[in-house]
Amino acid sequence: MSFETPVLENPVSNFSPGEKPTWELYSKCVHCGLCLDNCPTYRALGTEMDSPRGRIYQMLQVDAGRLALADSFVTHIDRCLGCMNCQTACPSGVQYGHLLESTRAQIEENYPRPWLQRTIRKHFYAKVLPSFAKLSSTAKLVRFYQQSGLQSLARSTGLLKLLGVAELDALSPRIEKDFSFADLGKVFPAEGTRRGRVAMLIGCVASVAFAELNRATIRVLACNGIEVCIPKAQSCCGALHAHAGWLELARAQARKNIDAMLSREFDAIVTNAAGCGATMKEYAALLEHDPEYAERAKQFVAKVRDISEYLAEVGLVPPKRKVNQRVTYSDPCHLAHAQGIRKPPRELLKAIGAEVVEMPRADTCCGSAGVYNIVQNELSMKILDEKMEFVEMVEPQIIATANVGCMIQLAAGAKRKGLNAEVVHVVELLDRAY
Ligand code: SF4
Ligand code: SF4
Repeated sequence: MSFETPVLENPVSNFSPGEKPTWELYSKCVHCGLCLDNCPTYRALGTEMDSPRGRIYQMLQVDAGRLALADSFVTHIDRCLGCMNCQTACPSGVQYGHLLESTRAQIEENYPRPWLQRTIRKHFYAKVLPSFAKLSSTAKLVRFYQQSGLQSLARSTGLLKLLGVAELDALSPRIEKDFSFADLGKVFPAEGTRRGRVAMLIGCVASVAFAELNRATIRVLACNGIEVCIPKAQSCCGALHAHAGWLELARAQARKNIDAMLSREFDAIVTNAAGCGATMKEYAALLEHDPEYAERAKQFVAKVRDISEYLAEVGLVPPKRKVNQRVTYSDPCHLAHAQGIRKPPRELLKAIGAEVVEMPRADTCCGSAGVYNIVQNELSMKILDEKMEFVEMVEPQIIATANVGCMIQLAAGAKRKGLNAEVVHVVELLDRAY
């Protein structure tokens, strides 16, 4: 791939009119560079074009018609994890998330990706993710591959290595037998005196690969006196769509979830996935120009809570047992950087008796980032290996986190590094304690 940056003669924006970054967003960047050391892709590659500052500069150049919206630009934007580490580090208040999402929407609209890539993306984002029925049938096929011996055969014969997909295969989540979709429409009562009533998002990929985590979340809430409803008409949260530039599809998911879950009956709308929570908290921004949904989106956002945030708010019922193990907590980017939630998960771990040991740079990205570890596998593994060096320094028995994507990635990282540490969600440890 060529990385020359064509300079155009009569500058006309290379972004189409409508949804694109605004001058106000670009101009917040004063090029100080204070974000660079916090950017995982800059740390891994050392190139300015793969830093937050460099990416913002390129966006502006494309918008000003001085740089083509072509391979080079798309490559540097595709390499961005969307981890928001830069947003936290920036003293100037750059809203990098908004810049990135609208730039990716421009790329989807104006850049012709290769046919196969386009077809796969369209099928995944437009057909599979928005439909729990299609997701369920796809997951059943993957489970058959995993359980029938085909996967073991492909691994042991070296076929996966030959095809160059061994790393990707190692990152594919284990599909569970009973999906969370079976719980749609159900209500799980609180144990003892009822202290609250919540709607819970079960998630798309989480429903097939982390259904047991969803059940553990319901049990933990019940033990805390919270009644849990799983609204039937809920949908995927739209995070993967929004991060890939499919903003209209993300809006469609947002509207479905608002219709399904915004009700006076619920004290909160709870999720155990940091990525989903961060996106649901963005619904007001996503739908600000929709006259029918703008106000309801604000009300929805006011009720969204990460599970750790919600338990901290209502106060944890003391557990029956202690988890007397050495635990290090890895902040999911979409919890720490996008939602500013760092203390509650650590407090929950301490409340169940865990010995919490802080690794250096606990809030640096693990390289998971939705489907990033699949589509940018090599770079993702480089970022993961650095993260695992920090983990190794504190010799944990358990690596706890609060996002399903991070769990898969950290488990792969522990295996690569030969670490004998279990990777769990904070909620799973709470479940053990109850
Ligand atoms: S979102 Fe993450 S990867 Fe992208 S520029 Fe910011 S820090 Fe770097
Ligand atoms: S820290 Fe903020 S203002 Fe400074 S270069 Fe990075 S994005 Fe720009």
